[in-house]
Parts: sequence; C-alpha cells; structure tokens
Amino acid sequence: MSQGSSLQKKNVRGSARTNHRRRTLRERDMAPGQAGPVEKQDADQDVPAKLAKGVVLGPDGKPCRTCTDVKSWFAMTGTKPKKAAATATTPLFPADCPPDVEMLGRSSWTLLHSIAATYPTAPTPQLQSETKSFLSTFGKLYPCWHCAEDFQTWMTKNTPRVSSRSEFGTWMCEAHNAVNEKLGKDQFDCTRWEERWRTGWKDGRCDP
Ligand SMILES: Cc1cc2nc3c(=O)[nH]c(=O)nc-3n(C[C@H](O)[C@H](O)[C@H](O)COP(=O)(O)OP(=O)(O)OC[C@H]3O[C@@H](n4cnc5c(N)ncnc54)[C@H](O)[C@@H]3O)c2cc1C
Repeated sequence: MSQGSSLQKKNVRGSARTNHRRRTLRERDMAPGQAGPVEKQDADQDVPAKLAKGVVLGPDGKPCRTCTDVKSWFAMTGTKPKKAAATATTPLFPADCPPDVEMLGRSSWTLLHSIAATYPTAPTPQLQSETKSFLSTFGKLYPCWHCAEDFQTWMTKNTPRVSSRSEFGTWMCEAHNAVNEKLGKDQFDCTRWEERWRTGWKDGRCDP
C-alpha cells in the first residue's frame, strides 16, 4: 500500500499506526485499488481527491465505510443526510443502510456481551477451546480493519479468560474498555457488566 493510499494517520480515531501495521489479512489477500479523484462517492468508489477528516481507507486504498464514522462519510461526499433519516436519536443514515464504524461497533458489542451473558457458569473444556477460537477468528474477520488489528494486538496481551461466565464477561468488559479508552470515552464499571447485559439494572428499569 502506498503512502498516498494509506490510512490518514491524523484522522484516525485512536492511535496512530505504521504502514507495517496496516497490512491486514485482507490486505495481503487483495490487490490495492487504483487511486484517483472521483466526482461521486458510492460503494465502489475510488479514492477521492481530498479526504475529509476522520475518513479511513480500506486495504484496497478506497474509503472504508465500516472503518469510518457516518459524519466523516458525509463530509467526504459533500452531501447532507436526508431529513427523514437524521433525528436526534437515529443515525444519519436510515437503519437499513450499510453500517458505519459506530453502528457496526454497537451491534458487535451487543452480540459479544450477549454471548458472554449466556455463557455457561461452568463451561466444558471443549466449549472454552471453541470460544477462544471464535474470538481469534472474530478478531481476524472484524469488518473495520484497524479496529480488528488493535483488537488482535490487545488479545495477544490479554488472553481471553473463558473458564466461567463471570470471567468471560469481565474479560469482554475489559476488552470494550480498552476501546473506550482508545476513543477517549468513559470507562465502564466492569463489576456491573451483568446488570447491563444479562439481568437488567437493579433499579428495575429493564424489568418487563
Ligand atoms: C472489537 C471492537 C473494536 C473496535 N475498535 C474501534 C476502533 O478502533 N475505532 C473506532 O472508532 N471504533 C471501534 N469500535 C466501535 C466502538 O467500540 C463503539 O462501538 C462505537 O464507537 C459506538 O460507540 P457507542 O458510544 O455508541 O457505544 P459502544 O461503545 O458501542 O457501547 C454500547 C453500549 O455498551 C455498554 N458499554 C460500554 N462500555 C462497556 C464495557 N466496557 N463493558 C460492557 N458494556 C459496555 C454501554 O451501555 C454502551 O451504551 C470497535 C468495536 C468493536 C466490537
């Protein structure tokens, strides 16, 4: 990947990274895209002449929607969200559009924490092994490539703890907190992960 078609270091939320670190599994398997200015951005777009702040390129050198937040995407395309889609509580794209990095993240954390919430209190050795394999594969396939790289790196230093639901849920919470820290967000109190993801809060607001 050339410097010109690589991730805009200063624009990435979180850490700066090197060209070497950008060589993901998918990048090694893909030929870099042809860079060049385009008039209109769409799913198969080339690299625009000038990238807006926050826009992240994929391994193919093109803007990566699942690696970029929706506001930066609109800034890049120079368009505005359609009125019906943008409200205070909904994303700038309608819900049935491909996800940006935030929508993908929220959905993914919901799945991951929910898996931990339904994990057995006393899992068999086989399930523990399968869970570790799942996390390893998840880390490789996560659609936001720079998120995936950092998650894989974090997992090498923080080996998944899967010997019980409590262990696994706390480990997942720590994984999420590592991303929160990278993004400058508040830390979540991991003693309360089960209230958030399994039992509902003690004040009863999640009770049917
Ligand atoms: C593996 C992974 C790596 C990611 N890496 C990046 C990245 O590098 N850059 C990037 O821009 N985005 C990344 N994301 C997405 C990012 O984490 C958020 O999902 C996204 O920014 C939307 O954030 P949010 O504030 O809506 O809430 P989210 O962070 O998605 O959290 C959803 C809900 O989970 C609860 N929660 C928050 N923290 C915890 C915790 N520690 N434990 C349990 N519950 C918690 C809260 O109730 C919160 O409302 C990643 C997502 C995943 C799954």
